[in-house]
Formats: sequence, C-alpha cells, structure tokens
Amino acid sequence: MARIAAIGEVMVELAPYPEAQNNEQEIMALGFAGDTFNTAVYMARTGTRTDYVTLLGDDPYSSQIISLAASEGIGTKMIETMAGRLPGMYMIRNSADGEREFYYWRKEARARELFAEKSHTDRLTKQLMECEYLYFSGITLAIISEHSREVLLNFVDEYRAAGGVFCFDINYRPRLWDCQQQAQQIMMDMMRHADMALLTLDDEELLWGDGSIDATVARYRDCGISELILKRGAKEVVAVVDGEEVHIPVPRVDGVVDTTGAGDSFNAGYVSARVKGYDFRSAVEHGVHVASIVIRNRGAIVKKSKFDADYLPLQDH
Ligand code: ADP
Repeated sequence: MARIAAIGEVMVELAPYPEAQNNEQEIMALGFAGDTFNTAVYMARTGTRTDYVTLLGDDPYSSQIISLAASEGIGTKMIETMAGRLPGMYMIRNSADGEREFYYWRKEARARELFAEKSHTDRLTKQLMECEYLYFSGITLAIISEHSREVLLNFVDEYRAAGGVFCFDINYRPRLWDCQQQAQQIMMDMMRHADMALLTLDDEELLWGDGSIDATVARYRDCGISELILKRGAKEVVAVVDGEEVHIPVPRVDGVVDTTGAGDSFNAGYVSARVKGYDFRSAVEHGVHVASIVIRNRGAIVKKSKFDADYLPLQDH
C-alpha cells in the first residue's frame, strides 16, 4: 500500500476542562494538536500508511507526542528530537460570548527549524522520497524560514519529478505571516507545485478577497493542479478535476458541537481515499463523512473509540 508523509508542527494544547468550568479555579486538559498532525491522525485512522515529519525536543511532552503518534499507528521515524528544546504550545479560552479564543507560544518551537540544516534535510529528504504521497500546509510554510521554504520547494520539484504526488492545503493564518503580500506570493509558488490542492473558501476570501467560487477557481487555472477541492463549511464541496467543475453535496449534520479540525479531517478523508485509488467523488464523500464525525465531537482530535464507533470504512460508502 502507498505511504503518505505529512510535514508540520504539532503543539501542546491546553483546553478548558469541561466538567470544571463552574468551579472558581480554572482547570485545563492537556492534549496535542496541529493542522498537519490532525490530518495525519485521521489518515492513519482511516487505514492509510502515514508518517509524520516534525522536530521536537527531549522533554516529557515531546515524548508524549511521539507516543501518541505511535499509538495512532503513525510512523515516527521522521520525527527528530533535540536536547534542551521544546514543542510549541497553545491555550484555548472560552470567551464570554461562547467563542473559542486561541493563544500561542510557538516562536521557539523546534519545528520552525524544519529543513534549516543540511544534514537533517539530507536525512529527511532521502526518507521522504520513499513515500508516494506528500502532504503539508500553508501553516508548515509560515513557520519555517525563507531559506527552508526554498529548500522545501526545490525538494517538492525533485519529489514530483520522481513520480511523487504532492497534496497542499493553503490554511492561511494571517498572524503567522509578515504581511498578506508575502503569504500570497509564497502560496501561489506552492500552488504551482501542487498535484492536489485542498482549499477552504474562507481562507481564499481572507487571503485574496475573492467574492465568488469562480474567482478562486480562475486564479489557479494555470497552475497545472490536477485536483482542486474547495471546502465551504456546510455548503457543497466544489471539485475541479482535470478542468471539469463538479459540486458535491454535504449532507446536513445534526448535533454539530465544534467545527475545529473540520478541514483537517476532511483532507484526511479525501487524501486517504485517493491514496487507496478511489475516484475524486468517492474521496469527497469520504472526506465529508470523516469531517461529520469530527464536528459532532469536541476538539480537533476526537477520542479514537468515539471516532471508530461512527466511522464507515470506504467500501461501505
Ligand atoms: P475549515 O475547517 O478548513 O474551515 P470547512 O469549514 O470548510 O473547513 O469544513 C470542512 C468540511 O467539514 C466541509 O467540507 C464539510 O464536509 C464539513 N463541515 C464543516 N462544517 C460543517 C457543518 N456545519 N455542517 C456539515 N458539515 C460541515
């Protein structure tokens, strides 16, 4: 079976502990998450051979991240650790109006040094060449240096020339970029190197000011992307595959409690199906199914037992 490697940052997450919210003292629950890591978890849960690629420290939390990945069946041999370093961290706060606010400590995270040092890059790229699929996002690009982005872009060229398939989610987060123009230029460069693009209309509106699906599709027409998938929350998914635009319905989901991780889990469902040879329509339906489980539960990574109880494997669709 083909293998996919997801590259990015996984952070320590501190989230309000639901049962303790009426007490005077705030109690936080410890977890681990990050967009590409969330996707890796759901790719593995849906039966795809998945490796995660990141840099961590030698602290107890980094060890817990590696154990978690291993317990999910994710390959960890491309996770490197360094003494004295730490992973990034974020806290979630429920504000008075019921919205979730996110606070990050990630500037010193070791993951920012992905592709920065030659010996690490040489080791990593050799192993990545053995995976048939590669996945990362605009968040991965945003946290690494300009030099590392160049190294990564050159590697993607080499990887695709050797027959590898590169899947990319723009996942635009304005606060991670120096300015919008910088993000536009780098995302566009990467889109010219993508085989599968998994976009969200909200991000396209934020990054480019798009007013319509047509504007988004038109911008990428000449990028040479064979599969462009546009997620639009509860609205139908737009797929542009080999130049043909198809709208695929999203069935109504009752009992939505938290849409965190919806896009990440959709991507996992989509890519997993494509890795296994299903066509893009079945892959979208699978992505929608995986996301529907995630949004009916709290947190980006739903407890495995809950996920498994609701998950219908691909052949059952
Ligand atoms: P992101 O999390 O990247 O913003 P979206 O909000 O577009 O991504 O959601 C990704 C997918 O999750 C959608 O294509 C859909 O399948 C599912 N989804 C998200 N929100 C809802 C919702 N309210 N009802 C049903 N499905 C949803």
